[in-house]
Amino acid sequence: MADKKLVGQTALVTGGSSGIGMGVALALGKAGANVIVNYSSSAAAANEVVEQLKSFGSKAIAIKADVSKEDQVHNMFQEAISTFGTIDILVNNAGMQKDAKFDEMTLQQWQSVIDVNLTGQFLCAREAVREFLKRGMVPERSKALGKIICMSSVHELIPWGGHANYAASKGAIKMLMQTLAQEYGDRKIRVNSISPGAIQTPINKEAWETPKALDDLMSLIPYNRIGQPEDVGNLAVFLASDDSDYITGASIFIDGGMTVFEGFSKGG
Ligand code: NAD
Repeated sequence: MADKKLVGQTALVTGGSSGIGMGVALALGKAGANVIVNYSSSAAAANEVVEQLKSFGSKAIAIKADVSKEDQVHNMFQEAISTFGTIDILVNNAGMQKDAKFDEMTLQQWQSVIDVNLTGQFLCAREAVREFLKRGMVPERSKALGKIICMSSVHELIPWGGHANYAASKGAIKMLMQTLAQEYGDRKIRVNSISPGAIQTPINKEAWETPKALDDLMSLIPYNRIGQPEDVGNLAVFLASDDSDYITGASIFIDGGMTVFEGFSKGG
């Protein structure tokens, strides 16, 4: 049975109805947290995650909101706080890709990715910080006033041709995360990033759906397997719990070694 490190705490996971967000929502719930599963389109998928969470005793609700819209984010936090009393953990997970060669990239492709991947994290983090400061410390629940986990990517470090909008959004997340860690460290708000490599989800289906694609992908991953949402869920529980109380401003790569640059293993 999972260690119930997060009993009594409430976590909001954006984009929690699929992929990594679903893996994180389930792991936080198994660790005892109440979970708000944010979604933007499929209520059915979000409700299914809520039912799974309830099946192992977690209190959970689904809330629809587009994280790039200020009023919707504000209303989502209001509803979450009125349901559970406060929020202790924000997982800024929602994200998307709109890939194009740079010289063919439209402003819409650029802007929509920045709006969701970067502005969405700004809007949600701002609401969370406001709530943490307003609520104050609850020492019996956590040593921290609040915890924010930003879903970044190995592409905050590795440039990615054909994905300039996405790579720019993740590079910016690194500075947003570190600036918040610096600005609110003395208030005991911990802010960290999870930076995944290849995790098997709908966002990167073309990279794993055929044996050939998966084989090509393995040439980038020393550990020789694709990651699973549960791998990321386990790390999120650690970063949300007091086990990581001295970690803030860190970006933790979870990538089977992708960032040790496999291509250089034979001398470069
Ligand atoms: P996914 O497509 O399954 O998940 C993305 C989620 O974000 C979806 O549930 C989607 O509905 C939601 N979303 C999109 N736009 C939204 C909006 N405007 N408001 C609210 N929710 C919205 O893919 P995933 O791989 O689980 O991606 C989750 C996060 O992990 C993303 O930030 C992604 O950049 C990051 N990531 C994924 C990988 C990977 O290999 N899968 C690697 C690095 C980083």
